[in-house]
Amino acid sequence: MPELPEVETIRLALEQRLIGRRVTSARLHRRDMLVAPGDPPGGFSRAHSDAPPKRVRRADLLQGARITELRRLGKQLAIVGENSVLCVHLGMSGQLLLATDKKPEPLGHVHAEWRFDDGARLLFRDPRRFGGLWTFASLQALREARWSRLGPDGLSLTADQLRVALAGSRRPVKGALLDQKLIAGVGNIYADEALFAAGVHPSRPACSLTSPESTRLAREIRVVLARAIKAKGSSLRDHMTPDGARGAFQLAHKVYGRGGQPCRVCGGKLQAEQIAQRTTVSCPACQR
Ligand SMILES: [Zn+2]
Repeated sequence: MPELPEVETIRLALEQRLIGRRVTSARLHRRDMLVAPGDPPGGFSRAHSDAPPKRVRRADLLQGARITELRRLGKQLAIVGENSVLCVHLGMSGQLLLATDKKPEPLGHVHAEWRFDDGARLLFRDPRRFGGLWTFASLQALREARWSRLGPDGLSLTADQLRVALAGSRRPVKGALLDQKLIAGVGNIYADEALFAAGVHPSRPACSLTSPESTRLAREIRVVLARAIKAKGSSLRDHMTPDGARGAFQLAHKVYGRGGQPCRVCGGKLQAEQIAQRTTVSCPACQR
């Protein structure tokens, strides 16, 4: 599942290619992949509603608009046009791909596409359909409706913000890190990697971390996310850059996906267990 570094990799690539470009056409192939203002909460895919979906105006899908900004908070990306904003969540398997006429089309599951005034095409595909698109009149409206529910972004997480997030909770620190309301952008891969780098065991109650430990953990979260962005993210299954390249950070994973293998620091056996309903890998010797 794409986490902060994968989404930031996509944001950086799209920023280079799309800022200042005008959308000449926008097409939505599946209405249930989009949530427009006035739709049932969660959209038509999850609603038990007999009301027929309203037609989506092309202008709300950025048609005719010049792209002014690409923003991100946690795992969510916002494509900002002159008069509307499209928020993209990639869910489990979503991809944003730039296609040129020379390249062959990716096969199937393209739910929306945009054509730009320089001939570029942007495709949103999502085979498993846990992702989606949300339209808003402005960045402010997006913030109020969605981003106000997210915690501070992991890439700039301060020690104080982490202390606030962990305070008063006896649940495992791993579970707290995965909670997007507390910290935005960290998922299973980067939670395990940051906890290992900080020497903190994932099953520790969140509130039991000492002040030096939470300072160290906040720093390791920033560092591991920044290193992963430099490597263009972790490509396990679906993640690729908009140009179709794979990320390389999976080669640098120290614990994620390595249960039962030797620790790269002490040589001991890494342990895999279920914490916060997720497979969690840690080193019993290196993490306290
Ligand atoms: Zn170890």
